[in-house]
Amino acid sequence: MVLGQKKALFLDRDGVVNVEKEYLYKIEDFEFIDGIFELCRHYSHRGYLIFIVTNQSGIARSYYSEDDFTHLTNWMIAAFAQKGIAISKVYHCPHHPKISAPCSCRKPEPGMLLEAQKEFNIDLAHSIIVGDKERDIEAGLNAGLFESYLLDETTQTQHSKATKIVTRLKDIWKNNVNTQ
Ligand SMILES: [Mg+2]
Ligand SMILES: [Zn+2]
Repeated sequence: MVLGQKKALFLDRDGVVNVEKEYLYKIEDFEFIDGIFELCRHYSHRGYLIFIVTNQSGIARSYYSEDDFTHLTNWMIAAFAQKGIAISKVYHCPHHPKISAPCSCRKPEPGMLLEAQKEFNIDLAHSIIVGDKERDIEAGLNAGLFESYLLDETTQTQHSKATKIVTRLKDIWKNNVNTQ
């Protein structure tokens, strides 16, 4: 680990921070997933910075606007702050390759993680990503992360490139030898 570098906990948003609802942008539809605050506290207490990295192709599709997204994001960050949790930054990809243009930020591309690395001097090799889709895990691998968790509450997923498939967020940090 290079001196001065910080570790990061990267969280996908929809399906990890909040219950997945297609093209969500309204505060009243935003429902935190059980265990998200405990997960963040666990890693925050261990010196990890917390980032949210989220594909938001609903913007490219004009289902909602950048302003709608920002409005919800500000509310979400305040909700975390009320629980004593600092979200260092929320990165989003507003693109869709078939509607706007191909980009380097839409997961599985690692662009958002690399941006955080530059802005906050992150030690990517010792950082963690949590996602509910394989493309989240792949974004982590593409950025050089070694530790990743696929959250699948349905328990249907059999195969993943993730370090571990979990059915609840607390399974990531409870009794996890990697993070002691
Ligand atoms: Mg997701
Ligand atoms: Zn993008």
